[in-house]
Amino acid sequence: MAISPMKPMLKQARSEKYGIAAFNVIDYNSARAVVDGAQEMSAPIIVQLSVKTIRLWGFKPIADWVRSLSDSVDVPVALHLDHCKDLGVIRRCIDAGWTSVMFDGSALPFQENISQTKLAYELTMAAGVGLEAEIGAIGGTEDDKFVAEDEAILAAVDECVEFCQHFPDLAVFAPAIGTAHGVYKGKPKIAYDRLAEITSSVDIPIALHGGTGLSTEQFSRCIQSGCAKVNISTMHKLQFIDGFADLRKQKPDLGEPIPFIEAQYELMKKGVKEMIALFGSQGKA
Ligand SMILES: [Zn+2]
Repeated sequence: MAISPMKPMLKQARSEKYGIAAFNVIDYNSARAVVDGAQEMSAPIIVQLSVKTIRLWGFKPIADWVRSLSDSVDVPVALHLDHCKDLGVIRRCIDAGWTSVMFDGSALPFQENISQTKLAYELTMAAGVGLEAEIGAIGGTEDDKFVAEDEAILAAVDECVEFCQHFPDLAVFAPAIGTAHGVYKGKPKIAYDRLAEITSSVDIPIALHGGTGLSTEQFSRCIQSGCAKVNISTMHKLQFIDGFADLRKQKPDLGEPIPFIEAQYELMKKGVKEMIALFGSQGKA
C-alpha cells in the first residue's frame, strides 16, 4: 500500500496500549529489513531518517525506496523525519513525500521552542503531514548534539500541558523522561511518575526516545503509560555493522558481496521482529 500517515497509527496504539516501533534506517537494505520484518509480523511500522542520513543519500532516493517497499507490503508504513531543527529540511521532506516530521526545538528556551515549533506546525498542518515535537532534554548523542545523561532535563508537566495546548493536532509528543540516545553507560532511570502525570494531562500519543538498551519491563511500563512510538536507532545501527562483520569473521575468504547483504538483512530483520513482539504491535496492522 501507499506510505501511510503516522498520526492515526499512533492514536490507535495509544488507546489500545501497544507501541509502534520507529526504526532509524541507514540505507535501502536497512529499510527493506524494517518493512519486511513488519510485514512478517503484520505490524504497523515507522521508517525514520536522521538529517545526516538524508544528506548522504538525498531526499528523493530515500522516498523512492520507502515508497516501493511500502507498495510491496500490506501493513501501514509511515515515513518520518527524526530530530530536525531546520525548516528547510522539513519543507523538502514534505515535498518528497514524507508523511511526518519531527521539529526539535528542545535546546531552545521554552517560549522560543513554542514559537519555533509553531512555524513547523503551520507548515505541516497546511501539507497534511504529521508533526512530532520535543520539550526537555533527552540524554546522549543524536546527530551532533550531546547531552550528558545525568544532566538530562526532565520535561515539566505544566510546560507539557502548555506546549500541547498550542499544538492540539500534534501527531506525537516527545517529553524528556530520563531516557538517552546511544548506548547506556549505567542502568537507565526512567521517570515513570513524571510520564504518568504527563499522559494523564496530555491526550497526545507520547514518543519514547532512546529505546535501545531498555529492559522488557521498562518498555512495557512506558507503553502502558502512553508511549505509542518507540524509537530504535542504536540497536539497528549495530546490527547493520555486525551483519557484515560477523560473516567476515566466519568466512574470511568470501569475496562475493551478496551473501554479506543477505546476512546483514537477516540480522536486522530479526531485531525488528523482536522489537515488534516486545512492543505488542504484532497483528495490529
Ligand atoms: Zn531521539
